[in-house]
Amino acid sequence: MDKLPFTRPSIDEETIQRVVAVLRSGWLASGPRVLEFEAALSAYVGGRPVRAMTSATAGLEIALRVAGVGPGDEVITPALSWCATANVVLRIGARPVFVDVDLDTRNLLLDQVEAAIGPRTRALLPVHFSGLPVDQDRLYGIARSHGLRVVEDAAHAIGSAWRGKKIGSFGDLVCFSFHPNKNITTGEGGAIVTNTVEEAALVEQHRFNGVVKPAPGEFDVLFPGMKANLSDISAAIGLGQLPKLEGFNQRRRELVARYFERWKVAPPLRLPAHGDAGHSWHMFAPLLPLESLTITRQEFIERMAARGISVGVHYPAIHLLSVYRDLGWREGQFPNAERIGRETVTLPLFPAMQDVDVDRVVEAANAVIAETRRVAVAS
Ligand SMILES: *Cc1c(COP(=O)(O)O)cnc(C)c1O
Repeated sequence: MDKLPFTRPSIDEETIQRVVAVLRSGWLASGPRVLEFEAALSAYVGGRPVRAMTSATAGLEIALRVAGVGPGDEVITPALSWCATANVVLRIGARPVFVDVDLDTRNLLLDQVEAAIGPRTRALLPVHFSGLPVDQDRLYGIARSHGLRVVEDAAHAIGSAWRGKKIGSFGDLVCFSFHPNKNITTGEGGAIVTNTVEEAALVEQHRFNGVVKPAPGEFDVLFPGMKANLSDISAAIGLGQLPKLEGFNQRRRELVARYFERWKVAPPLRLPAHGDAGHSWHMFAPLLPLESLTITRQEFIERMAARGISVGVHYPAIHLLSVYRDLGWREGQFPNAERIGRETVTLPLFPAMQDVDVDRVVEAANAVIAETRRVAVAS
């Protein structure tokens, strides 16, 4: 039987032809396709200005700079995310201040956010984990009452909605990722949704060497910017993907509904929070009951691989990575993030998956857990 990956992009023939057309056009760098992709993204988020770039990592760094965050400032962010979320804070000379996440939604705990705000806090950097939106009313309420900027890490959340409003269509600065694992891809890529055309112009400077052209024929550099502009090759992929996004996310929701249905009674793993129709299900990542198993997570992954199913890990707790330990963060500070970091397994979920693939995964996981369950010993 074919090996089932845990994720795989869906690229159709029409998209391949769009890329071929760019290659034939002679213009491969940022050009007409990038402008077209940005316009399409902007329309998708209700007309707010959008600028594309080479990754969400670059986007988050630029968004923090545009928000005026710099050396000595603090940024509040969850202890559970992809490492880039916190790395960008360090890269601009600011300090990430971690808070714990909810065990089931994996989203940051807003009570802890409020408690973590101090005189140096400049911005909040929430993550809509696996595409489940953070409580935006409360998050922005906190930001407003403390005069803080918000940079949303929406790498998982294109197509997600909060109370019927798309993520990115409201709020402050919102960053999407188009890495091949995400809900739509450009190969590699990302975008920032901004508030104003002035802010979008600042993003353009940051993503292209700090260059400005005040008038025709004039050229200047205001600061040493990054080189993070998207290519027309990538934008062509994005133009093929964006019209498919709603369908992709609908299929993700159907597949997840099947996982929940198959594990309706006494699931052998701890399932993530169900959310509502605004959940875009970037991934489906239950927690393994490691305490009651005789195997490690790595052994679980190997036993699933032996059954033809690949399983991922998203993510280890950020504060326990060496670079953050070196800054003083320790075990025991964020018990939920640490437990998720130890027990989480990402099961296959991508739009081209069949219903029977879900059944295969469920049966394999059930079997591996059943054959490795610790036998209770009477004392
Ligand atoms: C993928 C991801 C990023 C980074 O996206 P890139 O486009 O790969 O740079 C940031 N945050 C989260 C939560 C992610 O999953």
